[in-house]
Amino acid sequence: MEQTVTPISEVGEFGLIERMKDALGESQDEDLLAGPGDDAAVYRAGKGRAHVATTDALIDGVHFSPDMMPLTYLGSKAVSINVSDVAAMNAVPRYALVTLGLPDNAYVETVEELYAGVRQAAEAYGLTVVGGDTTAAHRLTISVTIIGEAEERDVVYRGGAEPGDRLCVTGDLGGAYAGLKVLMEQREALEQKGSDYAPDLDPHRYVIQRQLAPTARLKTVQDWAERGVRPNALIDISDGLASEVHHICEQSDCGALVYEEMLPFNEETRQVAERNDDEPEHYAFYGGEDYELLFALPEAELDRLEAGGLTVIGECREAGDGVRRTTPSGEQRKLEAKGFEHFGA
Ligand SMILES: [Mg+2]
Repeated sequence: MEQTVTPISEVGEFGLIERMKDALGESQDEDLLAGPGDDAAVYRAGKGRAHVATTDALIDGVHFSPDMMPLTYLGSKAVSINVSDVAAMNAVPRYALVTLGLPDNAYVETVEELYAGVRQAAEAYGLTVVGGDTTAAHRLTISVTIIGEAEERDVVYRGGAEPGDRLCVTGDLGGAYAGLKVLMEQREALEQKGSDYAPDLDPHRYVIQRQLAPTARLKTVQDWAERGVRPNALIDISDGLASEVHHICEQSDCGALVYEEMLPFNEETRQVAERNDDEPEHYAFYGGEDYELLFALPEAELDRLEAGGLTVIGECREAGDGVRRTTPSGEQRKLEAKGFEHFGA
């Protein structure tokens, strides 16, 4: 009998995760507070304490291009994107495991450079690298696993938003995608004009840094703890704002209205978008890799946060209202969920 196979692109990344959950079956572990489906898994670890665990890999040709990504930045980014998921549970990172897949053209110095970046990030976030694995591979791969900690009652999931909550983001959006565009433009110019061409990266320092060296918003989470603020729902923006708003709405069983004119942009992001005849809003909704936090907060709690670090970009609605966005002309449209998709769906 012929075996039927399903291309992964047919089910997409999230469909694939559903299949994996089916294959594992339901967990009977009473200490497990959240399995797959949030930014990190959460389990009880002693009285009132919880651990969060998350892992993410960066692979040559999929997540980065070695000619555009210095190795120290790569090591640092691999840590930051995982810390971002820990922060997205309102937790603090403690320990990391680092796995490297090394192709034939990797040297001792390759690993040392990568690890200089790993160390920089570990020190910046106050976590300790305690082990990992090293293996031969066809392509350079760095995979980081982080264990973080929180009081069990402080952990914030994607699923706690209530109609009426304000939807807020930290920092600015779309910059990482603008940075990627600049790097790709400059690479193309270099290929066309030859080695005499000096890439002009200076006017785009901010967006390039957003792409190559993102910072996880751990300080924001630490600031909330000091102020006694706990959002109702929280997620980090790794796949693009649109997809993350949908995740919060699905898991909170609510709708949302995003005010497009309120989305925060850096001036460089606007310039790159304009030059490419793009809308910066498109970068924010679908570009991904900004590693800012998106959270739902009751309006009364807003006053307890400093206005500088966050922007209110929308509100949570009843589930029946769906997930919508207001355009600058004042109409409302459906906010499509498509985010970054690795499997070409
Ligand atoms: Mg995440």
